[in-house]
Amino acid sequence: MKSSLVILYHREPYDEVIENGQVRYRPKKSPNGIMPTLKSFFGHVNYGTWIAWKQVTEDQKADFQSRVTVEDETNYSVFRIPLIAQQVRDFYHITSKEAFWPILHAFPWHFDDSSANWDNFQTVNRLFAEAACEEAADDALIWVHDYNLWLAPYYIRQLKPQAKIAFFHHTPFPSVDAFNVIPWRQQIIESLLCCDVVGFHIPRYSENFVNVARSVTKVEVLKRGAVPEHMTRTGTALAEPDMVTQLQYQGRTVNIDAFPVGTNPEHILNTLAQDAAKARFAEMKTQLGDRKLIIAAGRIDYVKGNKEMLLTYERLLERRPDLHGKVSLLVSCVRSASGMRVYQTAQEEIEHFSGRINGRFSTWDWCPVILYTEPISFIDLMSYYKLADVCWTTPLRDGLNLVAKEYVVTHKEQGGVLVLSEFVGAAVEMPEAILTNPYSHAAMDQAIEQALEMSEAEQKERMGKLYETVATYDVKYWGDRLLKMFQAMQTPELTTSSSEA
Ligand code: UDP
Repeated sequence: MKSSLVILYHREPYDEVIENGQVRYRPKKSPNGIMPTLKSFFGHVNYGTWIAWKQVTEDQKADFQSRVTVEDETNYSVFRIPLIAQQVRDFYHITSKEAFWPILHAFPWHFDDSSANWDNFQTVNRLFAEAACEEAADDALIWVHDYNLWLAPYYIRQLKPQAKIAFFHHTPFPSVDAFNVIPWRQQIIESLLCCDVVGFHIPRYSENFVNVARSVTKVEVLKRGAVPEHMTRTGTALAEPDMVTQLQYQGRTVNIDAFPVGTNPEHILNTLAQDAAKARFAEMKTQLGDRKLIIAAGRIDYVKGNKEMLLTYERLLERRPDLHGKVSLLVSCVRSASGMRVYQTAQEEIEHFSGRINGRFSTWDWCPVILYTEPISFIDLMSYYKLADVCWTTPLRDGLNLVAKEYVVTHKEQGGVLVLSEFVGAAVEMPEAILTNPYSHAAMDQAIEQALEMSEAEQKERMGKLYETVATYDVKYWGDRLLKMFQAMQTPELTTSSSEA
């Protein structure tokens, strides 16, 4: 059966487990993150396909089983593109992460195209596009995700001119001066302009995209409009007063949207309500005693500003001996599995500065920095968030930052302070956080002191407003908004309301 919805995403939507020597494909254990929302779109169509890549050896490639179905999820199947280790390395770890990632995050000095393999990037994108077109009905909606599939829309449009193509960009989209460093910029932009909808987290990113498009090719601005209602405040680093919502390119209309992904408050609150979570929380609270806890969580990545955050903490302890023994910083940084040199350096820096701070200030019964580089369970992470007096999330650049939203959810009807970088997408939705500039020592110093000293009343007032925003504009809201947009494109079958899914 041909699919009326095809989703292209770099990860598979299941947990692969071996049971009695048999491979089983189970629905993902954790309903956190964006995957459940993406999969829920299949509930609106007769049949759908999810396309992802799967690493295989040359030997496995010969009789590779491309199509699998996930247990209990029968209204779609998964089509896997087999890639050998070298292809994955070239496509994902080198071309995407060494050439594109630094540009997307405005770190052009980390850009390195010497080992980038553009031919392989094109090939992998073409394989995704061919698989999508093979699966899709002629007028299907094909929904492509993120920058590693930048070229897929171009190939899809060639193969299926009638298809409706949507693209969501999960990373920041940088300014024209940064983006145009990419030698293949024109091909990338002309591919994105083959879409019917291109979506970004926030208006700054969509405006950057429009400016890049205008600089590299001939496009006409058809419509400019207001930014979504909760992102209208100006005065912060990523604020935009209005945005282009429609372009024309080669006679076709390209809709531009800017709406941030949300978190899943229901899942987080249900997790914390479980007996196991309550027990863990009580245990952690006893161990913490009357110390204040600051939490900093995220992946190990140079864009996340962990070094700047740790140096700020070191300066705080130098300036404020009265805080010694009274505050602990929990850094939970999931180490990167890729083995890339830049991530290794970022990890070494975190270890170095955490070790230095502990070496300088620890006492027999106080460890100023508690560092985890191994993943911790979702229950533990949410319990730590709930326990933390301050969430310190100050990346130098970040597409959105879900950690900030998750922290707020765990503080429903409580105090707690969010210190947030102005340079993350979520900052434009969260003006009640202490917004700070991670490039400025003075701003970082001031922000963490303000956080530690904030009165309970002010904490509750700010947190109440933040919770309202995060709970309203959650991941379901994001999904519903896109669904409405797809319906407006008159995608067959996507005509029922999302609540019927
Ligand atoms: N996270 C985690 N374990 C950790 C630290 C973070 O599972 O030790 C999760 C965190 O709760 C969030 C995700 O990793 O859901 C990070 O998402 P975010 O948008 O903040 O950053 P990204 O990794 O997408 O750049």
